[in-house]
Amino acid sequence: MITSLPPWQERLVEQLSAQFANHRLAQTLLFDYEKGAAVETLSNYLVRLILCQSHTAKYTPCGHCHSCHMLESESHSDFYSLAPKGQSIGVDDVRLLQDWSVQKPTHGHGKVALIEQSHKLTPSAANALLKMLEEPKENTYFILLKPLQSSLLTTIISRAQRWVIHSPSPTQALDLLQQWYPDIHLERLQLALHWLDGPTECAEFFNNNGEDELSKFTQAVEGLNQHDIDPIAQQLEKSPDKLSWLGQIIIDSLQNHFHKRDHICPLLTQLTQNQLIDAWQMFVQLREKLAQHPALNFSLQVYPLLSYLNQPESNRAD
Ligand SMILES: [Zn+2]
Repeated sequence: MITSLPPWQERLVEQLSAQFANHRLAQTLLFDYEKGAAVETLSNYLVRLILCQSHTAKYTPCGHCHSCHMLESESHSDFYSLAPKGQSIGVDDVRLLQDWSVQKPTHGHGKVALIEQSHKLTPSAANALLKMLEEPKENTYFILLKPLQSSLLTTIISRAQRWVIHSPSPTQALDLLQQWYPDIHLERLQLALHWLDGPTECAEFFNNNGEDELSKFTQAVEGLNQHDIDPIAQQLEKSPDKLSWLGQIIIDSLQNHFHKRDHICPLLTQLTQNQLIDAWQMFVQLREKLAQHPALNFSLQVYPLLSYLNQPESNRAD
């Protein structure tokens, strides 16, 4: 759990803390977030704020009390986390939340339920949740998260106090990553931000061996430049999600033909502008096909694009 608060959320947290200190915090909060906004740091902070048993003078969670420790070790019984299993949050999951919500708090005065990706509630699950929100138990808070512009039952939205959580500027995001990962090279941090949504997504990535993944992938792209298709094929077969990285590399390589500038990511240097345009079209078609038919053999489908990217310079058409 990342607990340090990013600077672009400090003002918002001040407002929420003041409401909480004055017993005016809404029991249902909806955080409508932009991509890469690091909404998890905000919701985690608020959970700790509500459940902390010994707030500091400035009304921040202390980090030392029994509650703070239990949250840190993810074992707090007055905190409930609900997230989609697969594609949706079903009504049975909301019923379990309902059972939890009627119990008295075990450790202090308050309880908090965090509902991630609340736009994935099925209609019956959303209705069941609405009933709970209409008659909340005292000191029980519901924090709902959903991406901006995704939809949610309007009667739930109107019950909630809604906040839009904006994403940081590229400089703010990079500063934060540098604070979190002082030992990782700046170029690697920049590249991760370039390929992933935002700082918390990068953090999850780096905590799961991401630095190594970046090295392997950039080496595989270099291999493609030297007409060795196997490393990139193996990388993609192992993690098909990285296809989006390859798409980004095609776009960056194409842009490099228009404005030459320092690039943080490896480029497909052996292809001409027209070949890169063709490659981009192949990539877009492939992405759509795979999205529509997830059961297709990924390696087989991706091979034509890879072999196109791998063509020798003598094939240059222009
Ligand atoms: Zn505490």
